[in-house]
Amino acid sequence: MPFPQTRLRRLRATRALRGLVRETHLSASDFVYPMFVAHGLDRREPIAAMPGVDHLSIAHAVAEAGEAKALGIPAVLLFGLPAAKDEEGSGAWDDEGIVQLATRAIKDAHPDVLVITDLCLCEYTSHGHCGVVRVDGDRVTVENDATLELLTRTAVSQARAGADIIAPSDMMDGRVGAIRAALDDDGLTETPIMAYSAKFASAFYGPFREAADSTPAFGDRRSYQMDPANGSEAVRETKLDIDEGADIVMVKPALPYLDLIRRIKDETEMPLAAYNVSGEYAMVKAAAAAGRLDEQAATLEILTGIRRAGADIIITYHAKDAAKWLQ
Ligand SMILES: [Zn+2]
Repeated sequence: MPFPQTRLRRLRATRALRGLVRETHLSASDFVYPMFVAHGLDRREPIAAMPGVDHLSIAHAVAEAGEAKALGIPAVLLFGLPAAKDEEGSGAWDDEGIVQLATRAIKDAHPDVLVITDLCLCEYTSHGHCGVVRVDGDRVTVENDATLELLTRTAVSQARAGADIIAPSDMMDGRVGAIRAALDDDGLTETPIMAYSAKFASAFYGPFREAADSTPAFGDRRSYQMDPANGSEAVRETKLDIDEGADIVMVKPALPYLDLIRRIKDETEMPLAAYNVSGEYAMVKAAAAAGRLDEQAATLEILTGIRRAGADIIITYHAKDAAKWLQ
């Protein structure tokens, strides 16, 4: 029935009416809060590119996890800055490594906070790539199959330390299957895998690389992360991860890929996480600091948009602020 019988403005008249017919709800229980834990640090150190986000000591990470829990945020995602880096990235699978120590400390203090561990080598390798590097003249190759072995070691070490969910972010082919098999062999059959399935080679990771100290020393990540132009390939990547045993799939970044959040949700029906990445966060913070945007309204609109696109879980640096605003 057209106008004038139909008037969509009727249901927009008051706050109560708008609330009654609202289709998408944002809640702190949808959020995952990422944290950067640094070895040998005894204080917070601000990350210049990401105002409001700090490098944390283990004790500060424990306190932050407690704060997140108090705000209703169920999970944290840990990135580690190790004591030392080497060619292989051996700090990643060190049972006394920074992520393993932080995981144990957080689980001891807050057993009901879910600890998700990012699983990659780039924070631990001297060259900053996500896998084993072979240099052949001018040609640099990140070796897929040799990397899998190192990733599986890391996964088992993280799960033994008490990680509730293992989150591989490297984009090697076959890693989810290899990690699932290694966890199962070790009796860790109940540890879920949240796979960074559709992870794009994005300009929006810029601030993160400062935060995680993981800028590649040479070359870029375009031989393993996805081409931003490819949607069907993202669906294929995700379906392969599901076949290999992923329990939760992910699209990263979120904002330039909202179409793929919707498409992958519809095509797979899997629990889906979207990573609202550092560059997306930094843009809002910079625009707000310059007086160009209302930070609270813009942030909640962005997070609602990511949920409306189909994400069940939002990994976001805004998590604590947004949780406060939603109270
Ligand atoms: Zn990486």
